[in-house]
Amino acid sequence: MRQKRAKAYRKLMALYSMSFGFRQPYQVLVDSEMCKAATEHKLELAKQLNSVLQGEIKPMITQCCIHELYLLGKTQQPAVDLAKTFERRKCNHREAIPGDECLASVVGETNKHRYVVATQSQPLRVKLRSIPAVPIVHVNRSVMVLEPPSDATIRTKEYSEEQALHPTGSEKQSLAPSTSAEPPRKKKKGPKGPNPLSVKKKKVESKPPPAKDKGKAKEKPVAGARDAVVGDKRKRDDTDDKETAARDEQPGDPQQQDESRRKKKRRRKAADSVVVGN
Ligand SMILES: [Zn+2]
Repeated sequence: MRQKRAKAYRKLMALYSMSFGFRQPYQVLVDSEMCKAATEHKLELAKQLNSVLQGEIKPMITQCCIHELYLLGKTQQPAVDLAKTFERRKCNHREAIPGDECLASVVGETNKHRYVVATQSQPLRVKLRSIPAVPIVHVNRSVMVLEPPSDATIRTKEYSEEQALHPTGSEKQSLAPSTSAEPPRKKKKGPKGPNPLSVKKKKVESKPPPAKDKGKAKEKPVAGARDAVVGDKRKRDDTDDKETAARDEQPGDPQQQDESRRKKKRRRKAADSVVVGN
């Protein structure tokens, strides 16, 4: 076989495999005329099929097709012998029907069993071209030929490729809930996480001001009484803060230190006032 043709056949069988699920060994339905042609042209049928289909093959013959050969008598004995080496395909036609009709019924509307058909019948070939994905083989002047893909085959392939690009109805359904479920999850995460943290941070930042109060107290020693009241308030705040501080894992509480320092100062102020009073 010429290299160019071999490449074309390889490409074509790849199409049947990729787009339509054909698998080796390819099941080849051989009709009676093909058996006759093979013996007349002294073709090694199995070997030829093997090289044309570019892979392992399993030749098959239906009960009706081998029956046709039996009817031809002793003259076609070599063809009968050849057919007998093939696997018999049960077609369940009680009374043998013409080979073309038998093969058409075995292939069916969709060729669901992925048969390759090797036939010399022109009318059957025309019929099979209307069914997507039926590789057709025939012998032309002692050369075995694999037909190019039929229009039905190409249309079906393009349609399935087009469909593969878009989500199907069931896929859309499975996609829809997940997209609508995502936003609520984000909302749940939102308020739980960052809010408490940001609140705590603000408390920590608001602690420094007491230091300023301390400075004011120094400048205005007269406001000692009011300071004490403020100090009481602070104390209560401190206990609250201690609780939060413990939760915040901040061991050193600067406000507590401030408090003890302020108490010392107040004692000193009291002592001064006593001195002044005297
Ligand atoms: Zn049959």
